[in-house]
Amino acid sequence: MPRPIHAFIDCSALQHNLAIVRQHVHQTRIMAVVKANAYGHGLLRTAQALNTVDGFAVLELEAAIQLRNAGFKQTILLLEGFFSAEELEAIDHYQLSTVIHNHKQLSQLITCQKIKQPDIFLKINTGMNRLGFRPEEKDKALSKIKQWRPNTHITLMTHFACADDALATNQVYQQLDHFAVPDNNAAGLLQTLANSAAILRYPKTYATWVRPGIILYGISPLIEKTGIELGLQPVMTLTSEIIAIQQLQPSDKVGYGNQFITDQSMRIGVVATGYADGYPRHAPTGTPILVNGQRTRLVGRVSMDMLTVDLSGISDAEVGSSVTLWGKGLPVEIVAQSAQTIGYELVTALSARVPISYI
Ligand SMILES: *Cc1c(COP(=O)(O)O)cnc(C)c1O
Repeated sequence: MPRPIHAFIDCSALQHNLAIVRQHVHQTRIMAVVKANAYGHGLLRTAQALNTVDGFAVLELEAAIQLRNAGFKQTILLLEGFFSAEELEAIDHYQLSTVIHNHKQLSQLITCQKIKQPDIFLKINTGMNRLGFRPEEKDKALSKIKQWRPNTHITLMTHFACADDALATNQVYQQLDHFAVPDNNAAGLLQTLANSAAILRYPKTYATWVRPGIILYGISPLIEKTGIELGLQPVMTLTSEIIAIQQLQPSDKVGYGNQFITDQSMRIGVVATGYADGYPRHAPTGTPILVNGQRTRLVGRVSMDMLTVDLSGISDAEVGSSVTLWGKGLPVEIVAQSAQTIGYELVTALSARVPISYI
């Protein structure tokens, strides 16, 4: 029998979550963000489950080519554009779409002879100050592209820094203002702004394309709610089993660094999951975990291949009992909050040694 750790990916949950996005955005084109191996869920299988979307967004050229070779006909966008001019040939060959976010990419593009039918997403920095041209540089960049190839298909793009935070609406509207000056709509330009959080909070930002990532995986982008509370279904469930049980006396110590010391006699279970599987090492004692479907807590320090749980009150727990680290029955957002991170980090950190099954 293999080591009893497993990630289950629920493809019908992916489709359910996509339907929720569709309910919000109606006819707006949906670009499913499947970067980082579809947020740890597996690129191709996730894309298959989401095949009715209008486009996919990834980071690496290799991932884009993998999607194209698998037969996906939709728009496939490189979210950070190309990293060297050599990639332009493949972008043209595989009919990929590319972000252009800085002057170097722009000049590499417009000196490229090979591209025939470019599909460009021109990224505008409206205040996040990561990628993009400043709003006042937009017109010049647009006219350079038009001079080079008048038939270039161009979509303006920006990204919000704080759409997840209910208290930061002013900043979202400020970024919207910077994006729309002078008026993009009036100029008839295609546009894309919204990530998952903006889809939930700001219908004004829908424009031509929306770019949902995390909500497709059933995880809430909003600080104050879990995915379940938003009507989403968790897609990834990380499960394992108890592989040993220790009966401890008061003042016994557990694991590396004696981080947990018992104050009474208790049973603890050893679970075949550790930080090398993607479970966060900095999750403290008290982080929720399910054993036989009942909620209990992590105790002691997470080690590379194992962690320990409190079995007080779970009298039927034995070696071989099932454990849920996150997913169905235990939102990853709750685990993430306890570990002082976000669900995004936990699912994308799922390690390659964890076998994935699609259900
Ligand atoms: C990752 C990413 C998204 C998706 O963000 P979510 O919060 O997961 O919806 C959208 N747009 C860009 C540019 C991104 O990098």
